[in-house]
Amino acid sequence: MLKPGADPMSVDQSDVLCNFCAREWTDDLPLVEGHQGSIICGVCLKTACKLLDGGTLVTSHRTCTMCLEHRDDPAWESPWVEGSVICGRCINLGATALSKDKDYAWKRSDTATE
Ligand SMILES: [Zn+2]
Ligand SMILES: [Zn+2]
Repeated sequence: MLKPGADPMSVDQSDVLCNFCAREWTDDLPLVEGHQGSIICGVCLKTACKLLDGGTLVTSHRTCTMCLEHRDDPAWESPWVEGSVICGRCINLGATALSKDKDYAWKRSDTATE
């Protein structure tokens, strides 16, 4: 998402915020984009993956912030930003995309062996 008050016609990197923790985008922070400018950062995605893989997530009553669909998948609701939800499918898609991105050393799990 864009920082409140940011000019959509001239967006700086620091105007781009994660929808789930509201941190600013920096060069060493990987991001995944969803629909309508929604964004999840690598830190939040890792948290969501950990919970998803641990089997602790349940279906959300909210619509996924990233794909704008309401699915029956387990979903992660941000504990920091009210109303931000990512469904299991978007968590998996985002994790796959980030782990393939050679610009970042992002891994779904610190303990996973490949
Ligand atoms: Zn985040
Ligand atoms: Zn989704």
